[in-house]
Amino acid sequence: APRVLSGIQPTAGSFQLGNYLGAVKQWVAMQDDHDAFYCVVDLHAITVEQDPKELHANTLLAYAQLLAAGVDPDRATLFVQSQVPEHAQLGWVMQCITGFGEANRMTQFKDKSARGGSDHASVGLFTYPILQVADILIYQADAVPVGEDQRQHLELTRDLAQRFNSRYGTTFTVPQPFIVKDTAKILDLQDPTAKMSKSLPHGAVFLLDDPKVIAKRLKSAVTDSETEVRFDPDTKPGVSNLLTILGAFTGRDVESLVLDYDGKGYGALKGDAAEAVVAFAQPFAARVAELQADPAELTRLMGAGAAKAQAVASTTLATVYERMGFVAAR
Ligand code: ATP
Ligand code: MG
Repeated sequence: APRVLSGIQPTAGSFQLGNYLGAVKQWVAMQDDHDAFYCVVDLHAITVEQDPKELHANTLLAYAQLLAAGVDPDRATLFVQSQVPEHAQLGWVMQCITGFGEANRMTQFKDKSARGGSDHASVGLFTYPILQVADILIYQADAVPVGEDQRQHLELTRDLAQRFNSRYGTTFTVPQPFIVKDTAKILDLQDPTAKMSKSLPHGAVFLLDDPKVIAKRLKSAVTDSETEVRFDPDTKPGVSNLLTILGAFTGRDVESLVLDYDGKGYGALKGDAAEAVVAFAQPFAARVAELQADPAELTRLMGAGAAKAQAVASTTLATVYERMGFVAAR
């Protein structure tokens, strides 16, 4: 079966709905007919300052959310990135074959560093796409299910895989992006020109929030000064985003939804979107709470997942080290 790798950061307590629709939902769908590796990428989270207690709790919580969303640790390899040290080890090697200018072209660094003032941005935030390259290549992944925001990092992954292969001999599988078109980019509800992010909490819908808070977020989404419900992401990004969200949670296509709102205003659309998201979020949160009640079981599953992942990662790293000319310890 083709192998897939994907990760999510434990950067906030709860996943936001773009994480679910753009990534995690696909992870669940792919685990049956793929050799799936999914991880909580805590090494990526520390590219911005994290409170250690919160990071610890959020890593357990992210793992619980993946289980609650339907990732099955018997069918997929579900693990925590820092428990497999080969990610960081290969990350260093990949940094050394990356050009400074090449890394400097990554737009997510520009976006994220601009938020906190780029003088305060860490070197880790700058090089994090290269660690992501290592996350993918160390498993020889054929495809990477991610949202549209990760497309540029996937291109870097392909470039570096090809570069390493041509310099040192074929070592890595060159992966393909797997981006589900309809839900690839869920937009921020307060600023529908930006993507929804955990780290932009004002415009995000967090799935573990109280249903009242979730409903309020959707009902106060920024739209436009017209009244007609139409799907047009360019001129009506706010309304189109609500249609995408409603369609994804109800399993309906956007064209047929639009007909329902003929003669009705944005209020009806917002109310229905709120209802559909809450109908998913409520049982999801209940399942997460059950899983969180047994942290020993969560850490046991993490350990088993890391062992499965490391068996693959250590094999790749050994080949890489040998190809580079490193002398093996005997
Ligand atoms: P942060 O703000 O900390 O970067 P995030 O919300 O962007 O958090 P990540 O952990 O960086 O979440 O990404 C996890 C996965 O969710 C990735 O595959 C990413 O492409 C996907 N994703 C994130 N935001 C969206 C979005 N708005 N629409 C669709 N997919 C998304
Ligand atoms: Mg992100």
